[in-house]
Amino acid sequence: MSYVDEVLAQVIKQNPNEPEFHQAVEEVLNSLRPAIEANEEQYRRDALLERLVNPERQIRFRVPWVDDNGQVHVNSGYRVQYNSAIGPYKGGIRLHPSVNFGIIKFLGFEQIFKNALTGLPIGGGKGGSDFDPKGKSDREIMAFCQSFMSELFKYIGADTDVPAGDIGTGAREIGYMFGMYKKLRGVFEGVLTGKGLTYGGSLVRTEATGYGLLYITQEMLKCHGESLKDKIVVVSGAGNVATYDIEKAQQLGAKVVTCSDSTGWVYDPDGIDLKALKDIKEVKRARLSIYKDYRPNAEYHEGRGVWSIKCDIALPCATQNELLLDDAKQLVANGVMAVCEGANMPTTLEATEYLQANGVYFLPGKAANAGGVATSALEMSQNSERLHWSFEEVDAKLQGIMTDLYHNIDNAAKKYGYEGNYVVGANLAGFEKVAAAMQAQGIV
Ligand code: NDP
Repeated sequence: MSYVDEVLAQVIKQNPNEPEFHQAVEEVLNSLRPAIEANEEQYRRDALLERLVNPERQIRFRVPWVDDNGQVHVNSGYRVQYNSAIGPYKGGIRLHPSVNFGIIKFLGFEQIFKNALTGLPIGGGKGGSDFDPKGKSDREIMAFCQSFMSELFKYIGADTDVPAGDIGTGAREIGYMFGMYKKLRGVFEGVLTGKGLTYGGSLVRTEATGYGLLYITQEMLKCHGESLKDKIVVVSGAGNVATYDIEKAQQLGAKVVTCSDSTGWVYDPDGIDLKALKDIKEVKRARLSIYKDYRPNAEYHEGRGVWSIKCDIALPCATQNELLLDDAKQLVANGVMAVCEGANMPTTLEATEYLQANGVYFLPGKAANAGGVATSALEMSQNSERLHWSFEEVDAKLQGIMTDLYHNIDNAAKKYGYEGNYVVGANLAGFEKVAAAMQAQGIV
């Protein structure tokens, strides 16, 4: 059995009932075969892959909190400190009822490679809780965030582990968590990113993942003699990533015609009204079903369906495994040119393979959505310097990072004979850097 197959079998055996984690490891290790097979003897002796797939540390804790009626609830909190070979652990906090160790491990594992691809000194980590922020009052959100941080603070710090936002964790939640960390530790330090601008946050961080997705998409299209101008784009999601990728896509001349949340989706043939979307999601924190109140010509449908709309470019920006094989077939039948992942692992393995086999340019999330964590790292730099950079300065750095990232994964794919396969390119480029740092630091 090859070394990769041996480690894959071990991962499945040692981590039962964690299908998303198996899926992420399988996708990465399979695409690393050319690099592993070239050094198989040495990597096997050094157990490099076993060290890569096993987190350095994983923490689970109790999060008790009191609701507005005086009822106590208990959620589980998680932090997986996956790999610190190239810098402090860095990765978001997901608050969603589906969260468990398998989900956090899949996200943390992906984060190792994504963070390496940014070219910045950040290791991989991820955290979260099965707490559901939907329908909670501000006070309940604060109670949860304070309880969550009153345990997590023991394990994090500006030079050890720097969490950020993810699904369910936005500026409000980061604010409550930061306040509690400061109170408990008695230090004001850049322990979280995605902070408000009044207390150490970075300009562009809110927009960064969505903007970055469009910057890398633009660069890829440019290298294929195409552009975003007048392209029809379908987007899933209506959260942080989706909102700002719609904003940047519109600025770059594309027409975005869909968005979605977990209850339904909107098709607006005249182009999504961004002001309405922000009002619904950022101000009212409401469901997309009320979008029609703003735009009577738009359609609202319950359930899922954005991939059925004819488009040039598809940007999945909601959650994992939301673009399935049948969706990929429909997109291809409708003539899609590119699929670029804003979310983490939104496309299943079969759907990815189908898109690639049918000549669709496919940018995987670990490259395409790296703008968020890259800008988080820029926030860390500003906090360390105790300086605040302008919007233009951060935005220019983000553009530079995403452009370099595209060429980095493109070159890695070419180097190993997989030209145009950005999944392989991203995994190989990220792996080469992390593996070299791990080898240099000995068996730790
Ligand atoms: P948000 O919580 O802001 O938005 C998530 C969106 O996806 C919401 O519209 C939500 O709908 C929808 N959604 C969530 N879960 C499901 C589900 N199970 N089925 C259908 N729709 C769902 O999160 P973000 O925008 O921050 O994150 C979106 C994705 O991007 C995630 O995969 C995240 O890991 C990834 N990402 C985020 C980064 C960031 O900087 N924020 C950085 C890199 C990646 P509803 O409100 O109804 O739940």
